[in-house]
Amino acid sequence: MAARVGLTGGIGSGKTTVAGCFAGLGVQAIDADRIGRDITEPGSAQSEQILAQILEHFGRAIMDSQGRLKRKQLGQMVFNSPQKRKLLESILHPPILDKMFAQCQKSKSPYCILEIPLLIESGQHELMDRVVVVTCHPETRASRLQQHRKMSVDEINRVLDAQLSDQERAAKADDVIVNDSTIAALKQQVKILHENYQSMFGA
Ligand code: ATP
Repeated sequence: MAARVGLTGGIGSGKTTVAGCFAGLGVQAIDADRIGRDITEPGSAQSEQILAQILEHFGRAIMDSQGRLKRKQLGQMVFNSPQKRKLLESILHPPILDKMFAQCQKSKSPYCILEIPLLIESGQHELMDRVVVVTCHPETRASRLQQHRKMSVDEINRVLDAQLSDQERAAKADDVIVNDSTIAALKQQVKILHENYQSMFGA
């Protein structure tokens, strides 16, 4: 079983870019958001069961005519209601984590990167062998998100205000990657961590 290195950070901090840097070094990177999408795509027994639970609690308006989730609407609904957010997380997080652990168990890497946006908020950081947090100055990430995702300043600030701060996340981390500079600088930090993890987890 590969060791579990949980990777997290706030919106636009660079989690996916960091996961890609680890993958470039041959490490298996597993993405919670992607698994979340897979297990809510109609077609499997598991997804039908999960979709039925979501339907029961959030209503038919949250599905399109083909039985697919309207993700943006669902996202807005839970953004505005902590209670609904908790409910949705209680439906989705356990099967997502099970799949991530199963993939990690089968992995040939000495360790896997588990990219989980709400790693610390959910308490799942306690289940990891190591926790790495990506931080990024709010202005830098706002400009990256505006440029690459076409998000508005208001939208970005609303999400940032609702999330933990970098300091709160970093307080729970074993390792911190500061993504305020170039991709080359980011890769260099990942390379050093990779060397540490290889000796830590017995490559
Ligand atoms: P989200 O929270 O939305 O999932 P994320 O934390 O995974 O985002 P990324 O998608 O990796 O963040 O990065 C956000 C944007 O910033 C992307 O467009 C990415 O290409 C860009 N980016 C990340 N790091 C850097 C960097 N060091 N220099 C320039 N652009 C960067």
